[in-house]
Order: sequence, then structure tokens, then C-alpha cells
Amino acid sequence: LHRCRSCEAVERERTLAMIKPDGLSGNYKEKIKEAILGSGFDIIEEAVVHLDAERASLFYAEHADRSFFNSLVKYMTSGPVCAMVLESPDAISRWRNLIGPTDARKAKTSHPDSIRAMCGLDSEKNCVHGSDSPQSAAREISFFFRDDKSGWRLCFH
Ligand code: UDP
Repeated sequence: LHRCRSCEAVERERTLAMIKPDGLSGNYKEKIKEAILGSGFDIIEEAVVHLDAERASLFYAEHADRSFFNSLVKYMTSGPVCAMVLESPDAISRWRNLIGPTDARKAKTSHPDSIRAMCGLDSEKNCVHGSDSPQSAAREISFFFRDDKSGWRLCFH
């Protein structure tokens, strides 16, 4: 747990969670939200959006050179996604642990209680996303949401 250096309070952290197109089309949204709330996360923001190819490519820009990139963009644009900002102590690593490993087939044996084991199909269609570092959490939260003083707003529709 990260603690404040002066007052020792446990610091809360935010991460971006996303239910990918297969998660929404497979009707896993409520089950996934139950797992989120049951694990003690607060859902700070939530929005359902349909990414176009440009947005999906931008979100996964770090994978642009990978052989699976075109297929990944096709998958991520195949239907709407649900983006959420989760908050809790150690939210980034706790959410990564809850979703399980990237390959949902492996998750079913190594992490049978994980969300990817429950809802995912393979190494591409793995149902959910989670930021993997404080830097990517900051980038991915601001990819979807911005704070314009009067409150949080979705960046695009
Ligand atoms: N992906 C894929 N094939 C692979 C590896 C990854 O299609 O061999 C997809 C998968 O949907 C994954 C996403 O690309 O969630 C991002 O990959 P990353 O390695 O960042 O995994 P994650 O952080 O999502 O577990």
C-alpha cells in the first residue's frame, strides 16, 4: 500500500478499466461491475462509447508494430466499450490482479477466479482492459475523460 509520507494515510489511486466489445456483447457488464464493487473499488466515472479505428489505434499506439495490431483494432471497433475510472488503494495492481493474465485461455487454468477466465476467450478477445502503470493510467483516463472544473466530461462520443 502507498502511504502518505507525512500523515501515513493510505493513498487512493485511480486506474482505467474497460469492458471490451466482447464483454458488452456477451452481456457480462453487470457481472463485471459486481466483481468491481465487491472488491472494494469505487466507480468514479463510466461511459459507453464506440471507438472508431483512429481512436482504437491511438489507444493501443504502443502495439502499432505488432503482428496482432490490425486484428486488435478490428476487435476493439467491433462494438461499443465501457470505460470506467476505478478508485481504491493500489487500484492499478489490484485491478490487474482481478482481471488476470492477457491470454484468457491461460487465465482459465492459472487464475480461474479472474475476470478474463470468467468472460474472455483467447489472447485477443479477453473481455477487459486495465492500465499497467501510473503513467498509463493517467494517459488512459485522460484519453476518455477530462476534468473541466464543473466536473468530469467524456472527451468524445
Ligand atoms: N493482444 C492480442 N494478441 C496478443 C497479445 C495481446 O490480440 O498476442 C491484445 C489483447 O486484447 C490485449 C491487448 O492486445 O489485451 C493489449 O496487449 P497487452 O500485452 O498490453 O496486454 P494487457 O495489458 O491487455 O494484458
